[in-house]
Amino acid sequence: MALNRRDLMKVALAETGIISTLNPLLASANKSTSKLMDGATDILIIGAGNAGMPAAIQAADLGARVLLVDKNPFIGGMLNISGGHISGANSKLQIAKGIEDSPALHYRDAMRMGRYENNSELLKLAVEHAAAMIDWLAEIGVEFTPESPFFENDHEHYSAPRTYMGPEYARSLLHPLKAELQKRIDTGQIKLQLNTSITKLLKNHENRIIGVEVRSKSGKITELKANAVILATGGYGASDALKTKYNPKIAKSKVICLPHATGDGIVMAEQVGARLINMDKFISFPGAVEGASGRLQHAPDHLTDGIWVNKQGDRFVNEQTLNPDQRERAFLNQKDFGFYYIFDHQTRKTGPGIIGWDEKQIQDGISRGIVKQANTVNVLARKINVDATRLTATIARFNQFVNAGVDTDYRRQKLTRTLSNQPFYSIPITGSILISHGGIAVNHLLQAVDANDTAIQGLFAVGETLGSAQMMGTAVLSGMSVGPAITLGRLAARNAFRYARSDPFLLAECENVKHMENKALS
Ligand SMILES: Cc1cc2nc3c(=O)[nH]c(=O)nc-3n(C[C@H](O)[C@H](O)[C@H](O)COP(=O)(O)OP(=O)(O)OC[C@H]3O[C@@H](n4cnc5c(N)ncnc54)[C@H](O)[C@@H]3O)c2cc1C
Repeated sequence: MALNRRDLMKVALAETGIISTLNPLLASANKSTSKLMDGATDILIIGAGNAGMPAAIQAADLGARVLLVDKNPFIGGMLNISGGHISGANSKLQIAKGIEDSPALHYRDAMRMGRYENNSELLKLAVEHAAAMIDWLAEIGVEFTPESPFFENDHEHYSAPRTYMGPEYARSLLHPLKAELQKRIDTGQIKLQLNTSITKLLKNHENRIIGVEVRSKSGKITELKANAVILATGGYGASDALKTKYNPKIAKSKVICLPHATGDGIVMAEQVGARLINMDKFISFPGAVEGASGRLQHAPDHLTDGIWVNKQGDRFVNEQTLNPDQRERAFLNQKDFGFYYIFDHQTRKTGPGIIGWDEKQIQDGISRGIVKQANTVNVLARKINVDATRLTATIARFNQFVNAGVDTDYRRQKLTRTLSNQPFYSIPITGSILISHGGIAVNHLLQAVDANDTAIQGLFAVGETLGSAQMMGTAVLSGMSVGPAITLGRLAARNAFRYARSDPFLLAECENVKHMENKALS
């Protein structure tokens, strides 16, 4: 009699000694088959965005019956506005260009830049599958710019050029993904339901997630049943409630992400016992003008002649740094949130380097009281409520550096002119929120886990619901949100499919990840 794959796996596990511990689990997994198969659909994916779309495509290709729901009236989530940079080593495109790189180098770069606070297991999964993800995107028709892969200037550079982008930013990814999704909707493999806001996860008496609850605007509640649920609802950058609760310091930042990012999946997962992690981490990007549109143009595109001072009146960073990470960390480390961009009349005439601003915006800013103007530093300090003696000393010290040609405090490169040409100006600068770093703790199968690291059966999570820190640690890394959302979205779909189909080996692994790891190590 020929052995099937399952039998072969049993033999292999028996040889390692794992089978004896797994036997009871396999038995219980098999017993639960009929219960698991009761669902109305195999896999319910909440969120038809960056992670949810590829997850749905992958699940459908495996043969799953997929229900994809989104609260928006449109699909694509953040891909509608995102920069769409993705990163990965060893793609066909990178190999063709003869660039020396590897997933191991990508991993090491990401860990180092993230100050080793990344989730090393998930990061490995993402970087090792990144090339396959990028190649797949190319196969479905995603176009990349001729420069791709390149070094991206908006984030600290990796050690090799490994960032890719489309000519239309994330929309270059969105259009082919939409087309692939549509093909599977047309064949009935995927059912798409828009304008559907999921409000609650449903559990059965065994604590397995068996579906979700939908609350309509009129308050009517309906249930959608599924054998497995994937949370792909994105981050919480637009949730005042969550930011006030976990990250009050940055809560007043400008929200750049779309309003759907209210952390619904994170809240729902916590309600069924999932552990949240990294909720204290949040990166707000420095540079937005407070109270008006426009943001600072950073080096290397613009080397400002002005200085940045914190609310105490001190400089705090090299304003011209080529490493955005240095700028972001210095910004977030200040006692009070936000800073002032101080410049003099000469800089006003030559252009202060604010994107979207010319003389008209400055004039408008002055008349609206956003841009403050004064003939002396003392008066300017009073207008912005900064200690005048300190601000005067800061400017005097900066002027000394200009005269000496060396900035011994922050090693600023370009010291063209002293700040001495009255009137002096000040523009308040705040942070911008694009992504959130905290989210749901998962195991390597992308199953949500509780406080004891025990998997919550039937519940998977991907994309920004995991929080960007799992990939990026305490930094923001080029292309490490959009790319991993696709990669892990597809992997989660595989695991969810096997779970939904009661694959006993996956079920055993789901239930006993820690035990299997310990056994394998012993
Ligand atoms: C301006 C901008 C530029 C960026 N640039 C980059 C970049 O270049 N590279 C990079 O890696 N990252 C970038 N990011 C971050 C990245 O785009 C996002 O982190 C990522 O796209 C999020 O993907 P997601 O699938 O997790 O969430 P989303 O794409 O936001 O999808 C979540 C979906 O879930 C739906 N949803 C939410 N709650 C519910 C609910 N209760 N019921 C039903 N549906 C729900 C939403 O409507 C949405 O469609 C950028 C972000 C912004 C805002």
